[in-house]
Amino acid sequence: MLQYLTVPVTAFQQNCTIVWCDETMDAAVIDPGGDLPRITAAASGAGVTLKAIWITHAHLDHAGAAAELARALSLPIIGPHPDDQFWIDGLAEQGRRFGMPAGEPFVPTRWLHDGDTVQIGHCTLNVRHCPGHTPGHVVFHSPEAHRAFVGDVLFAGSIGRTDFPRGNHGDLIRSITERLWPLGDDTVFIPGHGPESTFGQERETNPFVGGT
Ligand SMILES: [Zn+2]
Ligand SMILES: [Zn+2]
Repeated sequence: MLQYLTVPVTAFQQNCTIVWCDETMDAAVIDPGGDLPRITAAASGAGVTLKAIWITHAHLDHAGAAAELARALSLPIIGPHPDDQFWIDGLAEQGRRFGMPAGEPFVPTRWLHDGDTVQIGHCTLNVRHCPGHTPGHVVFHSPEAHRAFVGDVLFAGSIGRTDFPRGNHGDLIRSITERLWPLGDDTVFIPGHGPESTFGQERETNPFVGGT
């Protein structure tokens, strides 16, 4: 069964999440945006072995430290979708703009596409391409655990910003209503920032996508 713990990182309190298979204790890190010592300490504390880095999208607070972590522990970087290439190329510039340590560009070991799966230990998660916040944003869904790791697509009570280059509000709404809602009302989602919620709760009460 899939287990996870969330480690808020960077000045943006981004929910870096360590997910693991509790049979093998192999783990993947979703969105190591920064604060690597905190992430590796959390992994050690959980008694898991980091085997891979999974990226939802290439904003600095999510992907800024992926290259450094990959190099330090010889981990593959999996994701995001190729449409985020320009954000990866701009990781250093993003750091300058936000007055944060520069992110380091990387070449993913494997790009992700809608319908792909990723594996950690005996756990398989499904990949959905959810453009809108960024064009190459992906989310990871575990049907077995009823959990979805959705980055900056959807938040408790809010949705991702679409005022960045190549952001698209219509795409984001379609991603949420056509690719997240079908995963089921009882699915708990872990957003890139802030507290967890369920798709059912957001369908009822989220002012941006409620009633859809
Ligand atoms: Zn973002
Ligand atoms: Zn974010």
